[in-house]
Amino acid sequence: MTDALDLEETALEAYEHAGDDSDWDRVIPFPGFPKLKTGNRSTLKNSENAKFVDIASTVLPIEFQGQEVQLEAHAFEDETVSFQAMAVVHRGKPSTTSPQNVPLVRVHSGCVTGDIFHSLRCDCYAQLQLSLDKIVNSELGIIIYLPHHEGRGIGLVNKIKAYAEQDRGLDTVDANVSIGAPIDARDYQLPAKILKHLGYESIRLLSNNPAKFKALAKHGIEVMEQVETKTSPCEHNARYLSTKRDRMDHLL
Ligand SMILES: [Zn+2]
Repeated sequence: MTDALDLEETALEAYEHAGDDSDWDRVIPFPGFPKLKTGNRSTLKNSENAKFVDIASTVLPIEFQGQEVQLEAHAFEDETVSFQAMAVVHRGKPSTTSPQNVPLVRVHSGCVTGDIFHSLRCDCYAQLQLSLDKIVNSELGIIIYLPHHEGRGIGLVNKIKAYAEQDRGLDTVDANVSIGAPIDARDYQLPAKILKHLGYESIRLLSNNPAKFKALAKHGIEVMEQVETKTSPCEHNARYLSTKRDRMDHLL
């Protein structure tokens, strides 16, 4: 077992240095990790000011809890990181007594197994549904969906490899370590840029993860309020959730 404190520091350092050229190799220590397309890692340092390569917007009607809900959908592609992301915005009726200009925001890591197949091994689907519920009932709400954050940023194949390690008894942290993957390799530069592009530098964040607040703050987003997204554990994800609480500082 790896020391919990060391792992916690490693995960936080990964956030701190994810945009730092000198530490990039340490954050991504194994082949197969999603790499920068540009091949020029030094561009990361100045990418706060970089423009998006492409942006497209449309109206997206969705079915949610038996109702049709109209969302704005915005797709983004970053010129330096070359990842695609999607933001959906819900604009409700403005309150006459307390107009809300600070959006409720969920920055959601893509999870094929959870979000699409409703896997019970994680709580991604439940958190996404909870976030959608809060957002469609808010005056101003945004979900930023990041497909490249799959498996806390290690990708789909590595996530399933880590699951196989968990099948042999390791927890979610030690499983990543055992396959040579970072415990958490997600970078929040792109969602921060998306929020700024949409005109929101102050947000209320839907998350249980304190490191996410720090990472967004590092990229210039003020998190004015943390709104918890606690979900009910089941027998398949109880250990996963307790590990996130005990070894990754999640508020669960
Ligand atoms: Zn998941």
